[in-house]
Amino acid sequence: MKVLVINCGSSSLKYQLIDMTDENVLAKGLVERIGIEGSKITHKANGKKAVIEQPMENHKVALGLVMEALLNEEHGAIKSTDEINAVGHRVVHGGEKFATSVIIDDEVIKVMEECSDLAPLHNPPNITGIRACQELMPNTPMVGVFDTAFHQTMPEQAYIYPLPYELYEKYAVRRYGFHGTSHKYVAERAAAILGKDMKDLRIITCHLGNGASVAAVKNGECVDTSMGLTPLEGLAMGTRCGDIDPAIIPFIMEKEGLDIAGINNLVNKKSGVLGISGVSSDFRDIEGEAEKGNKRAQLALDIFAYRVRKYIGSYAAAMGGVDAVVFTAGLGENSAMTRADICKGLEFIGIKVDADKNNIRGEEKVVSTDDASVKVLVVPTNEELMIARDTKKLV
Ligand code: ADP
Repeated sequence: MKVLVINCGSSSLKYQLIDMTDENVLAKGLVERIGIEGSKITHKANGKKAVIEQPMENHKVALGLVMEALLNEEHGAIKSTDEINAVGHRVVHGGEKFATSVIIDDEVIKVMEECSDLAPLHNPPNITGIRACQELMPNTPMVGVFDTAFHQTMPEQAYIYPLPYELYEKYAVRRYGFHGTSHKYVAERAAAILGKDMKDLRIITCHLGNGASVAAVKNGECVDTSMGLTPLEGLAMGTRCGDIDPAIIPFIMEKEGLDIAGINNLVNKKSGVLGISGVSSDFRDIEGEAEKGNKRAQLALDIFAYRVRKYIGSYAAAMGGVDAVVFTAGLGENSAMTRADICKGLEFIGIKVDADKNNIRGEEKVVSTDDASVKVLVVPTNEELMIARDTKKLV
């Protein structure tokens, strides 16, 4: 069985074709700048790479060209589109309606559209991608896999905000959490690596990329996570502020004469480690500047690590202890320094990183010292494989 995994953004589209008999990736690629000048596909299959540069006015055109690339004699991976048995779509927001992945039909798309209110930047392009695929492959089953689904097991005390309760009833204002597919994947892998059942573990998963979130996974279920109604809450991120005093919002709006779009832009695009350092949103640049003695760059790294450390402490409290801490995503997988900084000072709850073991990037490994009571692991995430597995299961 071959599953095509689609992750559709507003102007981008990532895809992977996975053979589910052995979970081998047959082809993968990225389409950039859909609908704007300079559209291009970077496609890899068969050990070959192809760059396709031509105008792509919309997602349907882009997907048509992806299909051509997949069918290409030189750098393709299949002979006919009939070989694609199912398509798995990443959908960012499933609201309270989707606690698991689902087969997509008209009714499901309608509910996804209702959830768009809660993720206006993400859900509409996800739905556009689904519709484009349906037009190109009308007889192929499609599955929706939601970033929010894994977090739907959170108890009320974790997801209700201390606001008038009517706002939850009227507008579904509550914590949803994101990166769920990733948190679930790395928690499952961590349990497997440790040779334990997830049901017997309290795991804190740290997905640290451009967007970053932490989740508390107790006995196999998510019980809390740092992102909220939107992916803005929680950790300091590349460009997002994460947790701040909400009173800062009207204060800055008044002082700087900002409207809603202006303040949204400030907290989403100009804050986080970019805002603190003034250097970049990319941790590699910031680490480089900090090494040269740039104090604000160092401060950005310190604040980032301090906030992850505080979440680990609070989730250990939320679960009555912790058995494993898992690091994943761009920064979590690659930056030994960040992992070490975060864990510094957590020895009191049994978290101790072994400097030698921690000196790795992008591989599955236990990096805690042998005598530490809490295992610390690095697990590269694989959201695409998770989406493909769910798709296979449902189809
Ligand atoms: P996204 O949220 O965009 O999917 P990723 O998970 O790809 O993000 O993570 C991207 C971030 O990971 C980059 O912005 C960079 O800060 C960080 N990163 C990647 N590799 C390294 C590295 N070797 N050292 C430090 N940071 C890294």
